[in-house]
Amino acid sequence: MTTLPSPSPAVARAGGEHLLEVQGLSVEFRTPYGVVRAVRDVSYTLDRGETLAILGESGSGKSVSAQTIMGILESPPGHVTGGRILYHGQDMLTMPKDEQRKLRGPEISMVFQDALSALNPVFTVGAQIAEMFRAHRGASKKEGLEKAAELMDRVRIPNARGRLKDYPHQFSGGMRQRVMIAMALALDPTVLIADEPTTALDVTVQAQIMDLLQELQAENGMGVILITHDLGVVNEVADRVAVMYAGSIVETGLIDEVFSRPAHPYTVGLMSSIPRVDARDTRLTPIVGAPPNLARIPSGCAFHPRCPRAQDVCAVEAPALVEVAPGRRSACHFAEEVLSA
Ligand code: SF4
Repeated sequence: MTTLPSPSPAVARAGGEHLLEVQGLSVEFRTPYGVVRAVRDVSYTLDRGETLAILGESGSGKSVSAQTIMGILESPPGHVTGGRILYHGQDMLTMPKDEQRKLRGPEISMVFQDALSALNPVFTVGAQIAEMFRAHRGASKKEGLEKAAELMDRVRIPNARGRLKDYPHQFSGGMRQRVMIAMALALDPTVLIADEPTTALDVTVQAQIMDLLQELQAENGMGVILITHDLGVVNEVADRVAVMYAGSIVETGLIDEVFSRPAHPYTVGLMSSIPRVDARDTRLTPIVGAPPNLARIPSGCAFHPRCPRAQDVCAVEAPALVEVAPGRRSACHFAEEVLSA
């Protein structure tokens, strides 16, 4: 089983309590085309007040692990084949379903990428937010709508009270995302999973939404798991990062350290393929090839067909995720050379 990333400064601020621990999680999809191993032996922790970014290309398994935590993994075809998800020390995977349901929403909540699909088009946004209070807190319809207006105001939707009766399609993309955030925060969760929360938005609105999430996090001290492929967003808001490739974590560490001195060739490749405003004349170097089909993961190190540093051993032996510097872990046979390059 992979070892857990080290605590961040955020942990120290919060007194060291782990809110959530994912231990050795493995998830596969059994399809007519074969078994897709979407999450392979993944472990991470989340602490109060910190933001853990899970970074990777599409199909790296980052969203599947989040769906498993939220209990919204479609099963079949999805199956958890190993691991534990501990919330305050209790394994959510073995809890009775009704116990799990009690946690999801009031304790652990999620913001999805596509608010238009996540919101119900035939109910007003006021009714949908109010329903959270009616279902979980026994509020009356009037009390629920009152709370909904307060929340919409808190996420800075202009004229919140006047928009309670509007439907999702009457909101802009950025405002719909604010509605989603309002719903996710309605019951004051301690863990928020934000799955590509700004991908569908333009850059200015992206920045506003990320600022809003950070402000709300500062207010209630929740832990945030931010799932994204956007290194810029990670750099802005995360305390720690876990880089995923082909269903596994290949590098973890504090954000500043990982971004300034990556210890895995995949992270180096990600960093080299994004434009930097402070290096205008530098040529971008894309990672060659494409992520593997998770039904046919390459032998040894899954990254070896694309890795510029690959040696013979890489195709045969899978590297373990091991500590390469204090608080830094990398799954590469040559991590120390990469780190010192
Ligand atoms: Fe590249 Fe080999 Fe390291 Fe994998 S183990 S990342 S193939 S050098």
